[in-house]
Amino acid sequence: MSQAAANTLLEATRRQYLNDLKFVLSRDNKMKGVVTSTSRRCSMEGCNGIRVGVRWPDGKHTFPCTKGMVQVSPDTWRIG
Ligand SMILES: [Zn+2]
Repeated sequence: MSQAAANTLLEATRRQYLNDLKFVLSRDNKMKGVVTSTSRRCSMEGCNGIRVGVRWPDGKHTFPCTKGMVQVSPDTWRIG
């Protein structure tokens, strides 16, 4: 498989994961945020992650990058 094809496959796989993503847990596992959007590409140089809009129980709205998260279940990822 060519590098380009591998990248396309990786991207498709990531999008599939993100389609199922509904909740994000905070680093300390104490807060569970609700995903509001998955549309932004990460703008950090060299990062090919996607920034996910998350609304937290305390009212904050943040855009953590998927590169800084780990998937813990089909619909939930955790920061850190
Ligand atoms: Zn990033």
